Amino acid sequence: MEVILRAEGIKSGYEGVQILWGVDLEIPDGQAVVLLGPNGAGKTTLLRTLLGLLPLWSGRIEFAGNDITRLATEKRVRSGIAFMSELGVFPDLNLADNLRMGGYFLRRSEMDQRISKMYELFPDLARLRRNLAGSLSGGQRKMLGVAKALMSEPRLLIMDEPSAGLSPKYVKEVIEILKVAHAEGLSLLIAEQNVLFLEQADYGYVLEGGRIAAKGSASELKSSDVVRRAYFGMVDENKK
Ligand code: ATP
Repeated sequence: MEVILRAEGIKSGYEGVQILWGVDLEIPDGQAVVLLGPNGAGKTTLLRTLLGLLPLWSGRIEFAGNDITRLATEKRVRSGIAFMSELGVFPDLNLADNLRMGGYFLRRSEMDQRISKMYELFPDLARLRRNLAGSLSGGQRKMLGVAKALMSEPRLLIMDEPSAGLSPKYVKEVIEILKVAHAEGLSLLIAEQNVLFLEQADYGYVLEGGRIAAKGSASELKSSDVVRRAYFGMVDENKK
C-alpha cells in the first residue's frame, strides 16, 4: 500500500530541550492513524515538526513520495497537508465566510462547488450557513474546522486533540465527523488522549516520553498491555 507520509528518526524540541528522540511513523494512503499518548508525551511537538512549524533537529519527512524535510510550512500545506486547530475558525465570521477563508485561493466556480460539497457532507453546516461561527456548539465548531480544512482538498488532514474541551456527547459527534472525512478517501493523523478515537482508526501509535512505546492496528493496540494499562486502567491480574 502506498504510504502518504513517512517520518524517520524525528528528533526535535525547544531551545536545547530535546522532546522527540527518534520517532518513526508511517501513514498509509487513505488510512486513519491515531497518535495516542499522555500529557506531555510530545504529540503536539511531533505534529508541529511534521508541519515545519518547529525546526527538525534530525530525521527525514516524506510526503506523497517527495522529500519535504526542508520545505517551508506553506509549501507543505500547498502540497496537500491540512492542519486543523481550534484557532482556524473565525468566530466573528459566519459559516459560509469561514469556508471561503479555507479555500481563499480557489477560483469562484471551484469555490462554489467546494462549498456545496461541504454542505452535502455536513448538512448541519448548510442549515447554519448564515450563523456566526462564534455561536456554534463545541461539536459544530469542530465540524466547521474540518470542513474548512477540507476546502483545499488536502490528501492528509492532521488534527491536534479534536476532543479537547468537549463533553462525551460531542466527542462522539467529532468521531462521526472524522468518519465522513475518512470515507472521502482522506488520510488522517489524529493526536489524542481519548482512546475512543482508536475505534475510528486503522492504525495507531503510542508516544511516551518522546518515543514510540507501541504501534499496531487498532485492534492490536486495544489488546496491548501498554494501551490497556495507560488508557483503560486495566491490567492482567495474572501478571501482577
Ligand atoms: P498535551 O496533550 O499536553 O498537549 P503532548 O503530548 O502534545 O501533550 P507536547 O505539547 O508536545 O506534549 O509537549 C511535550 C513536552 O514539551 C512537554 O514537556 C512540554 O512541557 C514541552 N514543551 C511544549 N511546548 C514547549 C515550548 N514552547 N517550550 C519549551 N518546552 C515546551
